[in-house]
Amino acid sequence: MISVRDGQNHILARVTAVAPPEFVALVDARGRVLAEDVHAPFDVPPADNSAVDGYAVTSADVPASGTRELDVVADLPAGSVFGGTLAPGQSVRIMTGAPMPVGADTVLPQEIVERAGARVRIVAIAKGANVRRRGEDVTAGVIVVERGTVLRAQELGLVASLGARQVLVRQRPRVAVLSTGDEVAEPGTQRTPGQIYDANRFTLRGLAEECGASVTDLGIVPDRKEDLRARLLDAGRIADVVLTSGGVSVGVYDLVKEVLGEIGGVDFWQVAMQPGRPLAVGRIGAAHFFGLPGNPVASMLTFMLFVRPALYKLAGRRRLFPETFLARAAEPMSKKAGRREFKRGVLRYADGGWSVRTTGPQGSGILSSMVVGNCLVILEEERGDVAEGEAVLVEPF
Ligand code: AMP
Ligand code: MG
Repeated sequence: MISVRDGQNHILARVTAVAPPEFVALVDARGRVLAEDVHAPFDVPPADNSAVDGYAVTSADVPASGTRELDVVADLPAGSVFGGTLAPGQSVRIMTGAPMPVGADTVLPQEIVERAGARVRIVAIAKGANVRRRGEDVTAGVIVVERGTVLRAQELGLVASLGARQVLVRQRPRVAVLSTGDEVAEPGTQRTPGQIYDANRFTLRGLAEECGASVTDLGIVPDRKEDLRARLLDAGRIADVVLTSGGVSVGVYDLVKEVLGEIGGVDFWQVAMQPGRPLAVGRIGAAHFFGLPGNPVASMLTFMLFVRPALYKLAGRRRLFPETFLARAAEPMSKKAGRREFKRGVLRYADGGWSVRTTGPQGSGILSSMVVGNCLVILEEERGDVAEGEAVLVEPF
């Protein structure tokens, strides 16, 4: 038996980032991983500008109390620049985002002034009010988005605000997925008595795509050595990571490890965890191989624990593991000491704190628990049964 942590370390030590990075247009870059730091070539905003629609004035003209009338000498829409310099007694009508006129340092919102013809009556206001400072968002020269960051909407917007149209990103890891087992039937086809429809190719494809991988579906392979061998050799040629499910437990048809032993290399692990104990890890040529257990929850969980960090590392991501949080157990939970257990839980905010209950039966074939649940409850190796009210680790999914 090996621990979850030792298994993860073993895998990550053998994985390095894939292929050279590539430029992609910003419009195609959401979800991709940045391959280089993005620096700001200039200040954002590039000049002091108005935060409101109103009147730009010189603070020396602002009365300490009462009111004062100023001339309105220009109208300044966003996107235009006041050519002159504001003289004493003058103001400029200014729109949100327009650069501050030279000589002006304060803006009065239009709601608090009275306009009459070419004059405006102003009131007391703090010096510098309603002015957005040059560089207050981003200062020239700083790193605005670090390499290894997954580009979300906000990173794309920030990069665009710096004038770039494209970014250098990591190539997507290529993942090939196949299911094994004579009992596994293709959804949409007639199944024979004793067969079950394939779930794992769909969960594993979904998980891999959520990791930013591009996925090739290699279908279902019967429990026959020659078929498996041919399909795995194909997979190893087209993918960076090959995933199979089923066929790694100790049964008559457990061929995956036997075939892998011939065409690549494989370690066969018993991981001290529940669900998901058996796991095969190895190589097919240049590709990384993961033989995941057949039970649907176990294969999802072993993906999340062992494949996902590897895919993240291949993709050049900085963060390899998700955040975990503490919540109160809303019910007692059974737990065997000596292994890491992962219950599917329902996390919710109640009575001023976060509490978590399990989804019900926790068998490793009960895939509906992943649908009903919204988190994993992670119970550490050394821990025994959990009493109601104890703090437990949760990982939202
Ligand atoms: P195995 O590891 O091949 O012994 O499979 C363990 C359990 O998982 C068995 O009950 C299989 O029927 C089931 N199983 C294997 N592959 C799949 C699959 N692709 N989809 C759903 N269940 C599966
Ligand atoms: Mg099988």
